[in-house]
Order: sequence, then C-alpha cells, then structure tokens
Amino acid sequence: MSAYLYTWNPNNWKWVDLQEAIFRVNNGEEYNRYWSCGVTKRIAPGDTFLLVRLGVEPKGIIGVGYVTSAPYLRPHWDEARKAAGETALRTDLLYKVLSEKPIISMVELSRRFPQHNWTPQSSGTSIPETIAAELIAEIQSDQRFNFEPSTKEQIKLYSEGRPKTVTYRTYDRSSDAREDCIRHHGYNCAVCGFNFEAKYGSTGEGFIEVHHLKQIADRGEEHLVDPVKDLRPVCANCHRMLHKTRPPLGIEELKLKLSGK
Ligand SMILES: [Zn+2]
Ligand SMILES: [Zn+2]
Repeated sequence: MSAYLYTWNPNNWKWVDLQEAIFRVNNGEEYNRYWSCGVTKRIAPGDTFLLVRLGVEPKGIIGVGYVTSAPYLRPHWDEARKAAGETALRTDLLYKVLSEKPIISMVELSRRFPQHNWTPQSSGTSIPETIAAELIAEIQSDQRFNFEPSTKEQIKLYSEGRPKTVTYRTYDRSSDAREDCIRHHGYNCAVCGFNFEAKYGSTGEGFIEVHHLKQIADRGEEHLVDPVKDLRPVCANCHRMLHKTRPPLGIEELKLKLSGK
C-alpha cells in the first residue's frame, strides 16, 4: 500500500465547506475534492491518503481516503499566488472518513511514531507502509466510522468513471464553485435567512447547503457555473422545499410561499 500524508493548516486556507463535507462522509455520500500534493508526482489513483490538521489545535489526523487522480496543475490555493497566475499540483481525494476533531491526535502520532515527520512543510509526503497500515486498520475498526476499505482496482474504476479534470474556467460541482458561493453570499439561508450558528451555536458554525439555481446537466459533462449568479446558500429545510418540484422552485417563489401567500 502506498500512502501519503496531506496537510491542512486552517491559518493558511479556510475550508469553507468542511461542515458539509463531514455531513456527507458521515452519511455515506460522496465527497471528492482536489488537494495540493506538494511537488510529489508519483502519487497514483488508488493510493491511500491521511489528512493531518496542522497549525491550530486540535491537531492530528482528521481524514482518510483514496487518491482518485494523478497529480495535475490547478490555480494556486493561496489567493495572492493565484492572482499572480501561479499554479500548484493537485490530486483528487475521495474521503472515507472525515472528522472535525482528530481521530488520532498529534501528541499520539509523535509518541507512537517519533521517527516520522507528521508536520511536513507541504502535502504529498510518503508514509511508511507499516505505519500507514497500522493507522488505517485502527481507524477501520473504530465503531464511530463506517470505513470499508476499497481495493486499488475499485478506486481506479471509480476514477475512470469520473468526469475529466475541470479546466481553469470551469467549476466542478462539488469543489470551489461552492466555496466561492459561500465566500460571496455567506452562511445565511437565501430563502428564510436561517443561520445555523445563530441557532445551534458552535455546532452549527460554518454549516450551510448550496443550491444550484440551474439544473445540473448530465453527469460527465463540464459545467460553466458562476458561483455568485448560479448558486445560493440555503438551509436544509428550504433546500428540501426547493427540490419538491423538478425543475426546482425559484428562491423568490419559495420566499412567497414562506410568507403564506
Ligand atoms: Zn431556509
Ligand atoms: Zn439544490
């Protein structure tokens, strides 16, 4: 098994849809997004990854899953460097386990595997096979997660069925279009104004769903989505109501219904 360590430092990059990602993974839905892999070009579909949270406590392993693409170039994740036209290597990652709090803390990692560097400067560093196998087996046996390991062949088949890498001008449904929508429109429901954090406190912090005003075309095609014009943040209730019809109700239409008209 080839396994790689991917890093996330909340100080450097805000993961705006982390809460939805956790929700999806916990509910057996797919969450596949790209992530910087540093300068490592030998990563291949079917390899295993562990995601470590760095920089801000609580630190440690928060995600596990499979790499579903070879490394490819995308605009840089850092906004300033992106604006300067810089690119960075990414791979697509399919999450099997994702947790807000570390599954294995940094303290524990350093104690049990002191010879390995758990705080590398960038993603894509290789994890020795024995260490990776031990950690994966442990997470797999943890009752809190529903982690059924897949074979490399299954992951390769999966990745071949996925749409090809999106280009610079287009957006993948599940990744940065949603982020840009939230960055622009915020976390309040566009229909009823509901805010998860205001209602549920820290449990609801950063939580919102994203609705596409235009119907998504058939899978496998590229979609030109304008995250500001075409997407809206909506609460779970309003989102269900919007999708009661096909095509979905309009935002304004549902607002009228909400006010009893
Ligand atoms: Zn709402
Ligand atoms: Zn929707």
